[in-house]
Amino acid sequence: MISRAVGKEKGMGGEPQEFRRVYLDNNATTQLRPEVVEAMLPYLCDQYGNPSSAHWFGRSVRARIEEAREKAAALIGAQPEEVYFCGGGSESDNTALKGAAFAKPRGASWRVVTSAIEHPAVLATAGYLAQNGYCQTVVGVDRYGVADPAVVAAVLDDTTAVVSVMHANNETGSIQPVRRIAEAARARGALMHSDAAQSAGKIPIDVNELGVDMLSMSAHKLYAPKGMGLLYIRKGVKIHPLITGGHHERGIRAGTENVAGIVGLGVACELARQGLAEDAKKIAALRDRLQAGIMEKIPSVRLNGHPEHRLPGTLNVSIEGAEGETLLIQCDMQGIALSTGSACASGSAEPSHVLVAMGIPRNVIQGSLRISVGVYNTVQDIDYLLERLPRIAEAARAS
Ligand SMILES: *Cc1c(COP(=O)(O)O)cnc(C)c1O
Repeated sequence: MISRAVGKEKGMGGEPQEFRRVYLDNNATTQLRPEVVEAMLPYLCDQYGNPSSAHWFGRSVRARIEEAREKAAALIGAQPEEVYFCGGGSESDNTALKGAAFAKPRGASWRVVTSAIEHPAVLATAGYLAQNGYCQTVVGVDRYGVADPAVVAAVLDDTTAVVSVMHANNETGSIQPVRRIAEAARARGALMHSDAAQSAGKIPIDVNELGVDMLSMSAHKLYAPKGMGLLYIRKGVKIHPLITGGHHERGIRAGTENVAGIVGLGVACELARQGLAEDAKKIAALRDRLQAGIMEKIPSVRLNGHPEHRLPGTLNVSIEGAEGETLLIQCDMQGIALSTGSACASGSAEPSHVLVAMGIPRNVIQGSLRISVGVYNTVQDIDYLLERLPRIAEAARAS
């Protein structure tokens, strides 16, 4: 479990104040579930066999990999043989887009279509393809950060190789109409990919209901280790591998399997599936308490993202007139971890491309905060932030 340093400090007015470490950045990464750590340990210790080996050491770990595949498949309504483990969400996105593009016959100029709010793992990969003989089309979003299926459909043609629109956005939590976009893509003969790194295990996913050909997941957004992910590929869909070599993952991802990581992801998927409804309800209640508290205690706050059609744990707000970077640093000094979509104070980084695509004015983006709640957060965490943030916001606005 997280070690929470709880102690007394002198407050601004000299009165003793409680100090807590509060992690509210669960869209950036999550703490490993203790059950996940425990399940992984044997594969870091005495169960060290290579799953490709024919002897007992290999066979016994091979069986654990296939169990994990079944658990991961069950979370998203897939068949186990449609799940390909790989080295994270970014690798999964790369495999989907490059794999679909490289599988097309050479000569014609094939198109890759994405939304404007995709994770860099999708956007930069589409950009890479555009620099290497493919065409890229980026479709905008509305003010809630949602892509319109009709707008996506309008840019599709017979040269479209793959369409990639994420299931839920990592910054705003806005959920995308993937099913309707997939219908349009597949009607044009294009493959449909969706990045579900943020939504898997948080809201129900059924790959058949969504109608996607490929779907990406990242283990570390789901209380499992970093450097681990998977790509769902619908049976019958042929893509090229990104990493060539041995026969691992049926030729889609070469390399001796990360057995401990796979086992950990499997357990995380199983726990997410079993607890999904209850976890989502608890997390949404904490997020709603946070949102209501911020709106009540701090004037001139704007909600970014869709107010309802949104991940249960994500809250993105702009504290107008404050600098997000300042808010983040001041929160960190009070032990609170969260994110900002504002440009970095040094001026080197760009403001969030997601908030820009939503048409939010730059000065409002400046004061944006992303607060993301996870299964290990408590009411005390939320109330601690609600106690500290108003004074931090007031000071940041004055500075
Ligand atoms: C975190 C994330 C990724 C990247 O996953 P990694 O495992 O960190 O490579 C991709 N897409 C989305 C939406 C994410 O949130």
